[in-house]
Amino acid sequence: IYKKKWASSLPRVPSTQLALKSMDMNYSLQFGDLWPSIRLALLCEQKYAALLNGFGDMEKVIQEFEERAQARDFVYEARSQWPEWTPHTDSQPRADQDSPAPGPSDPEPSEFSDDCTAEQSPSTPDMKQPIPISPNLKCFTFPRGDTTRFKPARPDGLRLLEYYLMDAASLLPVLTLDVRPGHTVLDLCAAPGGKSLALLQTECCRHLAINDISISRLNRLRKILHSYIPKNLRTEDRLRITSFDGRHWREIERNTFDRVLVDVPCTTDRHSVLEEDNNIFSRLRLKERQKLPLLQTQLLLSGILATKPGGSIVYSTCSLSQLQNEYVVERAVEVAETEHNVELHLVDLSAVRTLYRNTFHFYRHCRVGELVLPHLTANYGPMYFCKLERIH
Ligand code: SAM
Repeated sequence: IYKKKWASSLPRVPSTQLALKSMDMNYSLQFGDLWPSIRLALLCEQKYAALLNGFGDMEKVIQEFEERAQARDFVYEARSQWPEWTPHTDSQPRADQDSPAPGPSDPEPSEFSDDCTAEQSPSTPDMKQPIPISPNLKCFTFPRGDTTRFKPARPDGLRLLEYYLMDAASLLPVLTLDVRPGHTVLDLCAAPGGKSLALLQTECCRHLAINDISISRLNRLRKILHSYIPKNLRTEDRLRITSFDGRHWREIERNTFDRVLVDVPCTTDRHSVLEEDNNIFSRLRLKERQKLPLLQTQLLLSGILATKPGGSIVYSTCSLSQLQNEYVVERAVEVAETEHNVELHLVDLSAVRTLYRNTFHFYRHCRVGELVLPHLTANYGPMYFCKLERIH
């Protein structure tokens, strides 16, 4: 009885404090001198972007954003800086396969990407590689240092919402997935649905399989799809919504999809330092947190096995942790090769980093994949993403 009373009178340490303590310990080692500035940005207001609804009346919204709000479409802007790169939605052969792409204009100096210019100058052979990016996405952001917020979206004449507010860095895994017309796509951990919505906005998915283990989160996803996608495009042959444990997807389908997005549960670092609600650093969730890298590896492996030979997989998290990012990718690739005889190619994403470096602060030292670091002048992320191609 004495013990119980003593335990219940222990001061309750907020989970956000536990999160910060754990991050201070791990990330000061991982990021060294960069950690104080990342930490500060994590604790400050996150910046939002507006993903335009291509099924609504876009022209009016674009005009309003450009004229009144001084916001810009960062996807378009990045593309237009690569004039010889032709987006692959066009029916003509892809010009980018053969032609060198000129480099973008000089970026602002950044402690995170200080040698980008040297590394990626237009004459570098690396830049002659194609830059395969999912098409048709329009996403507006306010300039660096401008912390204006977008107003909540309104319904347009078709009663669809005009835009979806999201962290602009969340679009990078979808852009990187390089969805092309006619593709079959699996979004293995899809809820609440921001990336599924973006995948549909590419207008490329012949069939999109949307899965998440959580029924309540899938209900939120359904509401989002209702608000943004016309009914005639939400038919069962185009969209399939399931609630399976993604780790067992291979029992349903193998070698099926052209593209697979594996946006796994993680320590959601920004949420964890700010919100008590549903915080994974709560003492009660210690075991769940410790098992995250294993769950993430199993989900990625499942995504790999669901992909057709010749298809691609993008793995993503909103955590800064190497244990949940590079280590998971490396382990899943190893298991796929040794236990399933699946050969994978790790795609070099430095061209994507160069393409979007005016909008995001990228970390330059990931062994595999790319990481967007929160920064006071561009407070997006964290967002880690890594692309794999399945050879056989
Ligand atoms: N992709 C979503 C988006 O952009 O809105 C966010 C996904 S969130 C980072 C991770 C999701 O994984 C959660 O919705 C969670 O319910 C789901 N999840 C967790 N364990 C899972 C499992 N074993 N199988 C499938 N989904 C799982």
